[in-house]
Amino acid sequence: MILLSGADLVLPDRVLAEGTLALDGDRIADVIHGTRSNPAPGSSAPQSVHFDLSGHYIVPGFIDVHVHGVEGTDTLDGTDAISTIAGRLPKYGVTAFCPTSLACTPGVLRTMLEAVRGARTTRAPGGARVLPAHLESNFINPEYKGAQPLECLRLPRTSDLGPRTSELGPRRSDLATRTSNDEWTGDDILREIADARPDVGIVTIASELEGALELIESLVGHGHHVSLGHSAASYGQALEGIRAGARQATHLFNRMPPVPHRAPGLAGAVLESDDVIAELVCDGVHVHPAMMRVAVAAKRPDRIMAITDATAGAGLPAGSRTHIGGRPIRIADAAYLDDGTIAGSVLTMDRAFGKLTAEVGLSLSDAAVVCSTTPARALGLQGFGVISQGAMADLVVLDRDFRVVQTWIAGTLAWGAPSTPV
Ligand SMILES: [Zn+2]
Repeated sequence: MILLSGADLVLPDRVLAEGTLALDGDRIADVIHGTRSNPAPGSSAPQSVHFDLSGHYIVPGFIDVHVHGVEGTDTLDGTDAISTIAGRLPKYGVTAFCPTSLACTPGVLRTMLEAVRGARTTRAPGGARVLPAHLESNFINPEYKGAQPLECLRLPRTSDLGPRTSELGPRRSDLATRTSNDEWTGDDILREIADARPDVGIVTIASELEGALELIESLVGHGHHVSLGHSAASYGQALEGIRAGARQATHLFNRMPPVPHRAPGLAGAVLESDDVIAELVCDGVHVHPAMMRVAVAAKRPDRIMAITDATAGAGLPAGSRTHIGGRPIRIADAAYLDDGTIAGSVLTMDRAFGKLTAEVGLSLSDAAVVCSTTPARALGLQGFGVISQGAMADLVVLDRDFRVVQTWIAGTLAWGAPSTPV
């Protein structure tokens, strides 16, 4: 048994001041009022390991469903990329994440999904949990591609997804040797997805593309989550995407037209629909804090999930140069391509939590819902993203300035600041 004692526990509906969490194995065994350090006198309970966390907060571990990289590593960097990123994220309070790809070639996607599978099968000690990937995908609107490579965008097909790649024999090796972008189609991407279904969680799609609605239905039918984004969908086209099964929206407000009140478009449909959980980049650069307040007010915390959309530039100093999907980026208040296009953020989830409380004005409980509970629910993760008896012991200990002091994953200390209290 491990006792985390004396911290303010951020529960879904309130903050329990100076409480204690008892961890047993990978679970929260008890949520206790008051501090507790030793078994009661005469108790037969086994001796516990005790951490005095007075003056700190404990929140559920952050779950980032949209992250491309951190500290110089991008998800498309090859076979070790995902486990490297997983090893670095607990420092920022992340206990689980969806490795997120840009539109890329079938071969690059396959390498990434194999890396995701490897990292999910064997979690590195101290590493964040690797969830099924988020493909920001080849099936987006070129007019709203942002930093995504135009040469990798494709139209969905209107037929089914075709046979699994493994049933196609030589085709698989053909694909591996292809180099030219015009030698592959959207079908080749769909075969890669079909070949790695358990490792593909979310697929971002622009619902106005020809064949998109059929693709959304097909992906949802195979158990994937579809997120509407990088899209110029009208209000009606967005509703059609939702009717087809899309239940998420990719970085609300970013890479979609703004909200004119006579033609609400995708952003208006997302704000209105209770069926859709919306991502929000919470760095204060991608979305003004006032619009973050508007989004949370419209959808409530249980339908907004904070994301970083972080690039490999997250955690690097301003002025650094790194890359996203092989393209160079410059690090400032966000990440930028050399032509000035914004290419993602340099945000980390601990800073997102701080922004939501300090600048957007959310309560600690609501900020924890947005950073942990809602993403867990969006992905169907039972027992995650909440501090309650029996829930998974994925936890973050924050100081009063919301700096990460400890990160616990599955009841084990995954990361501790150099001055971590014991
Ligand atoms: Zn992204």
